[in-house]
Amino acid sequence: LSELDSTTPRYRESNHHAWVTIIYGCDKFCSYCIVPYVRGRERSRTMGDILAEVRKLADNGYKEITYLGQNVDSYGKDLDDDTSLSKLIKETLKIQGIERIWFLTSYPKDFSEELIETIASSDRISKSIHLPIQSGSDKILKAMNRGYTKEEYLELISKIKEKLPKASLSTDLILGFPGETENDYLETKELLKTVRYDRVNFAVYSPREGTLSARKYKDNIPHKIKAARLNELLELQKSINREKNERYVGKNVETIVEGVLKDGNLYGRTITNKNVIFSGQKELIGEKVQIEIHNISAGPLRGVLSTKNLQPSREH
Ligand code: SF4
Repeated sequence: LSELDSTTPRYRESNHHAWVTIIYGCDKFCSYCIVPYVRGRERSRTMGDILAEVRKLADNGYKEITYLGQNVDSYGKDLDDDTSLSKLIKETLKIQGIERIWFLTSYPKDFSEELIETIASSDRISKSIHLPIQSGSDKILKAMNRGYTKEEYLELISKIKEKLPKASLSTDLILGFPGETENDYLETKELLKTVRYDRVNFAVYSPREGTLSARKYKDNIPHKIKAARLNELLELQKSINREKNERYVGKNVETIVEGVLKDGNLYGRTITNKNVIFSGQKELIGEKVQIEIHNISAGPLRGVLSTKNLQPSREH
């Protein structure tokens, strides 16, 4: 399972949003993951190269950029200069026309305080923090070779919540990793209740040929138990999603319009990565609009174009 594969937004043809890879490969060697073997060690592109590409994209009308990497927070560590993701984002802010900057996928151990400060410094930087935890049990985290403990992860979450109180949080979880006892599972469940993510990508463990966990551990959690754990957490997370979305009811949210749904409605995204559905003309695609939220669910928010979008009248 690759974090990038599981969390990257499905690539869509877009003439306002571009995905730019800034670092290739991964050095982490999580025991269940094949990526470091097939994509090799971390290799960062130079900042000059990336910024030149983004400038060109901005000249061609692109307004949103998503910086991509298997471990995007490692960006620059293999270069000799002082490059970092934080510095790259600050430089990108200087490019006129780029209204939103996103980045994926973060690795908890490498998510720096400097990055938190940078995110807090501008409304143009995504307020959606995706931090894959994978399990709430230290024993399982160790077997996964994730390189952090639950406590260290929760400390990081506290710092983020303190500095970025309005940010949305999301994560990836693997259920049924070899040796996951009822107790380990309950720790994961507890973690979901503690953090209260806005979105969780769940996966059920299955051994991937060529990985350490496939060689070293027996896939010993019966399918029935994996499925039961998954279903229980899906239900729990659904209710948390719903409760968290309630904070948007009656509020105006700034949304960049992404496209048209089959039913003719438009959809877009907020800076906190919430999907918003509303009715409007397709000429609005790529534009920033205010949507007044009327309806919420565990998934997308629904609303109407707000009167705030109306231009002040030029007539006297
Ligand atoms: S951080 Fe771990 S899970 Fe993510 S790509 Fe690297 S080895 Fe795979």
